[in-house]
Amino acid sequence: ARVCSRSPSPAVCYNCNEPGHFSRECPKEKRPSRPQADSPERPQCFNCHEPGHYARDCHKARRSRS
Ligand SMILES: [Zn+2]
Ligand SMILES: [Zn+2]
Repeated sequence: ARVCSRSPSPAVCYNCNEPGHFSRECPKEKRPSRPQADSPERPQCFNCHEPGHYARDCHKARRSRS
């Protein structure tokens, strides 16, 4: 008898969505949880200093220098 795993449901990797292993054991490259893929040019917001968008697209409150 093989005492493999007692879990009724097979493990499905959250990284590559393939069954048989967990995401932490995934042989494939981990992809970030960000929906936006890394583009060659990464804009950085001058308002909140977060990458991924420009200051004009910033959803955060704008700093008014006064
Ligand atoms: Zn995987
Ligand atoms: Zn911003």
